[in-house]
Amino acid sequence: MRRAYKFLLRPTCRQEIVLMACLEDHRQLYNGALEHRRTAYRKAGVSVRYGDQSAELKQIRADDAGGQGRWSFSSQQATLRRLDRAFGVFFARVKAGRGRGYPRFKGRGWFDTVTWPKDGDGCRWNSQPEHPSATFVRLRGIGHVRVHQHQTVKGRVKTVSVKREGARWFVIVSCDDVPADTLRATGAAVGVDLGVAWLVTTSEGEHVANARHQEASASRLADAQRALARKERGSRRRRRVVAQVAALHAKVRRQRLDGAHKAALALVRGYDVIVHEDLRIANMTRSASGTIDTPGRNVAAKSGLNRSILDAGWGVFLTVLAYKAESAGRKLIAVNPANTSRTCAPCGHIAAENRVSQAVFTCTACGHAAHADVNAAVNILRAGLALRDAAGAA
Ligand SMILES: [Zn+2]
Repeated sequence: MRRAYKFLLRPTCRQEIVLMACLEDHRQLYNGALEHRRTAYRKAGVSVRYGDQSAELKQIRADDAGGQGRWSFSSQQATLRRLDRAFGVFFARVKAGRGRGYPRFKGRGWFDTVTWPKDGDGCRWNSQPEHPSATFVRLRGIGHVRVHQHQTVKGRVKTVSVKREGARWFVIVSCDDVPADTLRATGAAVGVDLGVAWLVTTSEGEHVANARHQEASASRLADAQRALARKERGSRRRRRVVAQVAALHAKVRRQRLDGAHKAALALVRGYDVIVHEDLRIANMTRSASGTIDTPGRNVAAKSGLNRSILDAGWGVFLTVLAYKAESAGRKLIAVNPANTSRTCAPCGHIAAENRVSQAVFTCTACGHAAHADVNAAVNILRAGLALRDAAGAA
């Protein structure tokens, strides 16, 4: 199995300055290579390829020993390959008759990742293994940079990337042959409903990962974006709001991932079989009905941004869940979410009126009362087990 780990870097002040120079030189290399391809084609009708540009690297490095020559050759090749991929995407579009998307020059602040494609070649993960308490990554031209390693890296380290996000730096370590840690069977199955107040509600009546704080960040983000629209371009105030918006985006992403990990871990630990709504079907039905289920006026009244942030939350959760389920040897089943929120779990009566409000479900036929999300989760579980049994019988 393949897997990537992301850790916060703690560069010293000097290292941070050099990291910035490294990023800037890679950006210039990218832009220079783009200019080269563009000019060659315009002036002479010549298509320059990755191989041609890679062959020139040696000369570029020799001519600029104190600049481009400082960094890892392989990391520069990775940047040229990145440009090559951008052209690949562009040519595929042209072929498909959608001739837009010519690779763009990267402005300052729009180039934030450098990759070392092979551990040991211009970079070394865990470069000071004898150090008693800290982990370091050695990067050519930069030195041994301290890593805030909050979990163990398993498997064989393949590539190392450094990424700038706002004022922070991260290292992303991508590994091959990561062993799956299969969990012991629990003999239990669960259905999960994806919601707004809680990311996940189970058929057992448990709520996991409160999504309210995410919603609060989303509202602040919406406010900041409105403020941004009012600021004059190029003004100092605008720059300040731009930084604020970026920080809020990062916060929403962190909270989302955090909630997803928490919820997925709880489910994978407790159940062998996990049934969830098929989000692709849910997305199709949503345009007609408004949302997956009735999300309550609270959210419906809010902006499309808020909505899309919640949607992304469900998507991220299912991605994390799929990954964790695979590595733990658990079975995931996706079901069509149609009617799961309107059907009475005990008697099967289907009516929109059953759902009294966002949280309350009361069956108009048998009087069964439950938390609406729990009732939906029970229906989801039943649909999933029916699918599984049908597949087993076939
Ligand atoms: Zn009923």
